[in-house]
Amino acid sequence: MFKFKHVFVLVLTTLIFVIGLAAAFGQSSSAQTIKFTSEMHTSKNLTYNGTIKYYVKSDAKKYTPEITYATKKWNNALGKKVFQRTNSISRSRLVFTGTNKLGASYAGVAEINSGVIALNTSWMSRYNQQKRRAVVIHELGHTFGTKDLYEYPNASLRSLFKAQTIMGGNYATSIKPFDKKLAKWSLKKTRSMSQTEFRHYRSNTGLYYQQMLNGRL
Ligand SMILES: [Zn+2]
Repeated sequence: MFKFKHVFVLVLTTLIFVIGLAAAFGQSSSAQTIKFTSEMHTSKNLTYNGTIKYYVKSDAKKYTPEITYATKKWNNALGKKVFQRTNSISRSRLVFTGTNKLGASYAGVAEINSGVIALNTSWMSRYNQQKRRAVVIHELGHTFGTKDLYEYPNASLRSLFKAQTIMGGNYATSIKPFDKKLAKWSLKKTRSMSQTEFRHYRSNTGLYYQQMLNGRL
C-alpha cells in the first residue's frame, strides 16, 4: 500500500535528483561532474590526419542542407574543421547514403569501420528539419568513436543521458558543453586507422561501404 505522504516525498526527492543532475549539463563549469568512462567509447574513430573527409552519395544529396548544418555545428564546437567535404569517394573516410534498407527502428546508422552514415529515408522523410538535423548530428558523433549513451549500463545515468545528450538520442541540434567534451574525450581515447587498415575495411563485403555500393544498403 502506498501512503500519499511517502509517494510525495519520493516524487520530490526524485525531482530534486533529476533537476540536480540536469543542472550538471547546463554549464561548462559543472559539466565535469559527470565522469567519462570507457563504456562511452569504442576503440577507433574515423579521423585521418585530424580530419574526416566526407562524401555525399547521390541518394543522400537531398540531405545536404542537414549534413552541412551538422558538420558545421561539430566543427564550430570542436574549434577545428574536422569535417571537410570531398567530391572524391575514394579519398573520403565517410560516405553519406540515404537508404530504405535499414531496420525500421533506426533513423540512421553510423558504421565506423568502412566509414558510412546511412540515413533511413522513411524516417527522414517523416521528420521535420530540426529532427533531420539532429539525426545527422548524432550519427556524426559516432565518427569520433562515441557509443550510444542510451545504452549506457548505469540505469540512472542512462535515462539522464537520453534526456540531456546528443549521444543519448535527445534530438538536440545545439552541441552542449557535455556533448563537446565527450567528443573531444572520445577522440583522445580512440585511435585513427592507417590507410591500409581503412582500405581493408572498405573492401570487406560484409561492411556497409560495400553493401551500399552493391545496392544492399
Ligand atoms: Zn547512435
